[in-house]
Amino acid sequence: MAIDELSTTINVVEPYLPNYENYLHYVSKIYDSKWLTNNGPLVNKLEKELENYLGVKNLLLVSNGTVAIQLALKLLNCRKNIITTPFSFVATTSAPLWDGYNVKYADIDKDTFNISTKQIESLLDETVDTLLPVHVFGNPCNVLEIDRIATKNNLKVIYDAAHAFGTKVNGNSVLKYGDISTISFHATKLFHSVEGGALVINDDALYKKAKSLINFGYDSGNINDIGINAKMSEFHAAMGLCVLEEIQYINESRKKIYNKYLCDLSKNIITQKINNFEEYNYSYFPAIFKNEHVLLTVLRELNNHKINPRRYFHPSLNKLPYITSDITMPISENISERILCLPIYPNLRESEQEKIINIINNILN
Ligand SMILES: *Cc1c(COP(=O)(O)O)cnc(C)c1O
Repeated sequence: MAIDELSTTINVVEPYLPNYENYLHYVSKIYDSKWLTNNGPLVNKLEKELENYLGVKNLLLVSNGTVAIQLALKLLNCRKNIITTPFSFVATTSAPLWDGYNVKYADIDKDTFNISTKQIESLLDETVDTLLPVHVFGNPCNVLEIDRIATKNNLKVIYDAAHAFGTKVNGNSVLKYGDISTISFHATKLFHSVEGGALVINDDALYKKAKSLINFGYDSGNINDIGINAKMSEFHAAMGLCVLEEIQYINESRKKIYNKYLCDLSKNIITQKINNFEEYNYSYFPAIFKNEHVLLTVLRELNNHKINPRRYFHPSLNKLPYITSDITMPISENISERILCLPIYPNLRESEQEKIINIINNILN
């Protein structure tokens, strides 16, 4: 039997499983207290520890990153059109649409893959009151320019920071920018709690209101607002606490893998231009090929070796079947056709990564 047949499948991400005994230790505490959910001690502990680790205030844990976006839109009382990016995970578009908001797309910058501030400005009119940019693959947006545009035009800013755990700008967490940042702690993300997410809310009064909205609108026993159930459970918080204890190892291994791809592949592929590279979180390694044909050739060969990178993000969201306007987003569509995210996760072995690199370079050399 060939070596390949013995080896296991390598996917684009492998969920990080922290020390098992440590998780059991937290689970036994939950069994003792019988406090399973509803703003329990582990949720509170995780909120405090994340605020410390990330250097932010007003971090509110919720059940996932999608509901975090929906809550942010409600909290900011968004009423008109939202300008967002076509180059993201589907939830950035589907969450606002689900709640009846309208989205307008601004095309992306061809190097950073983040929303273009020039394109935002060209779309502004009285029908727009909210910006929903994404720090794509953890690469921080041009937050100062977006701030400037928002202030000048009286717009609210929600950052979909699902990928931006740990990313900094000038020594500060990128989550501090905008009115609200939302994060995802889904199992496939850099930091996770199986399912989960958070909002980081700049305004103290809005933060207080958010606490009530995630719990059916209850506020000290009274119901004042229409709320929803977006609470995180104690079991999910326990996983988050365990993963956070190992975050240094996670960060160091990702950095090593990222830099090896960069070093060994960059003469054959195009990579994402990272703003403030020293403060990047190494959450994804996107590779951009000359055209879709080359990408499909590489993908087929990797799949033949049981290696499954992902066409992420594909398609460009303006091409989704339920987006009825026939607007085109030339840059986003072009990048979408040529981009593959390569496997990157802490337990990816060096020999596995070398195999991936060799397969790609053999085709492209
Ligand atoms: C993962 C992700 C989400 C959704 O987060 P969930 O926790 O899976 O609901 C939203 N936006 C982006 C950019 C994501 O990658």
